[in-house]
Amino acid sequence: MTNVVAPDTGTAVDAGALREAMTGALVTQDSADYDDVRRVWNGDVDRRPAMLARCESDADVVAAIGFARRAGLEIAVRGGAHSVGGASTVDGGLVIDLSRMNDVQVDLERRLAKVGGGALLRDVDAATQEYGLAFPVGAISHTGIGGLALGGGMGWLTRRHGLSIDNLESARVVTADGQVLRAAADENPELFWALRGGGGNFGVVTEFEFRLHEVGPMIQFGMLFWELEQGAEVLRLARDVLATLPVEFNIIFGGMNAPPAPFVPEQHHLRPGYGMIVVGFGGPEAHAELVARLSGALPPLVEFAGPMPYVALQQMMDEASAWGRHSYEKGAYLTELTDEAIKVVTTQVPRRNSPLSMLLFYRLDGAYSEVAEDTTAFGGRRSPRFAVYVLAVCLDAATLAADRAWARATWQALRPHAATAGCYVNSMAEHEDDRVRAAYGGKYQRLARVKSSYDPENVFHRNMNVTPG
Ligand code: FAD
Repeated sequence: MTNVVAPDTGTAVDAGALREAMTGALVTQDSADYDDVRRVWNGDVDRRPAMLARCESDADVVAAIGFARRAGLEIAVRGGAHSVGGASTVDGGLVIDLSRMNDVQVDLERRLAKVGGGALLRDVDAATQEYGLAFPVGAISHTGIGGLALGGGMGWLTRRHGLSIDNLESARVVTADGQVLRAAADENPELFWALRGGGGNFGVVTEFEFRLHEVGPMIQFGMLFWELEQGAEVLRLARDVLATLPVEFNIIFGGMNAPPAPFVPEQHHLRPGYGMIVVGFGGPEAHAELVARLSGALPPLVEFAGPMPYVALQQMMDEASAWGRHSYEKGAYLTELTDEAIKVVTTQVPRRNSPLSMLLFYRLDGAYSEVAEDTTAFGGRRSPRFAVYVLAVCLDAATLAADRAWARATWQALRPHAATAGCYVNSMAEHEDDRVRAAYGGKYQRLARVKSSYDPENVFHRNMNVTPG
């Protein structure tokens, strides 16, 4: 018998009752693997939950929620554990760990992927690419689909096929009162609307169904890298080229250090500058032309182009964003990359302290902009724009203190040039009420009404929290 003292009531709770009720393992502070299992992606987050329920089924999730509520334990829900702010863990509470619910099945007839709520992007890519299929997800394969998709989900395929949520067909959700519901256009439609952008506020998603598209398995990859002093020219070039670029291509670009990758000559490894990754989903000729157009306009220090499997593209930046680094981030939307905004970026990028910190631009247009504003709860508006990620990534806490200040200063300086006061909810390390309201803008009140229907007591509050009302 393992006794845990519930912080809310001060009474001892017998964890054995939950252990017996679950198929999956229950990890408590006296378990040998406790320190391993409680770790999250951000090395700067070090919390000590009372227990972690490693759920393997809907029934396990129902049991864990019921147990935590009866015992007065705060609940955190964990998919891939990549919340930079540490939303998926909690001191003294119960973590519903979905990492074992990572099965991905492809239904070829219906062209759908059934994805477990705790799957990682790499699980998704491996299963769907076996058939040359995919749906839009993020660009780092160790991220969880749970948190990523519930906040929106943007990546290489977003210009072509929208956000992850734009491809969501249905979700199976365990609610705060232990019901297992299906949410889809024809069943619990308000819940379905809210899940597409509203984060983990409404329940625990144990399975998603996503629509699939033909992608790869080979894609065209290109990487260009320029000197730090050429920042303004690189950003103007990216802006001008992206404005006319067919959705068969995508470019992620920004201020960073050159990766120590095999296609980067050794003398340039970790050199500070500006990089562009140029991906093509069509044939090699058009991609080679685009890379030549970019390098012709502004000759780079490093240029590489060639075919690559889509799954390799998805894993390309994994190491640069490895587990355990001390991290912090701020986000913004820019509808225009004006010369004034470029000036802010080129002033701030050289002020980073860690070679791993970076400032990245994702392009949102094409299929992203074809979705009507009210179709989903996604906070960002659908007009073409750039999502800006200001990422502080450091090997130790002391450097993070400096780069956290850098990220905040960069964000403050960008604010006058931003499209709205809000940003992408998944690029927020802090979840203060006013920032969450700003992120959802005019959709906040509708989200609050859905919240009061499905989680009136705000059981699921370790997220970009919407207050029931
Ligand atoms: P977790 O920390 O497990 O969860 C985050 C939040 O979602 C928590 O509030 C949690 O309770 C909730 N949640 C998770 N799963 C479920 C579920 N099944 N049911 C209910 N609630 C759930 N975003 C992009 O859009 N594109 C990118 O390319 C991208 N790249 C990233 C790269 C890195 C290295 C990192 C750290 C983040 C990146 N992000 C990106 C942001 C990412 O979308 C968020 O960090 C997201 O929260 C990660 O989801 P997760 O399941 O791993 O996180």
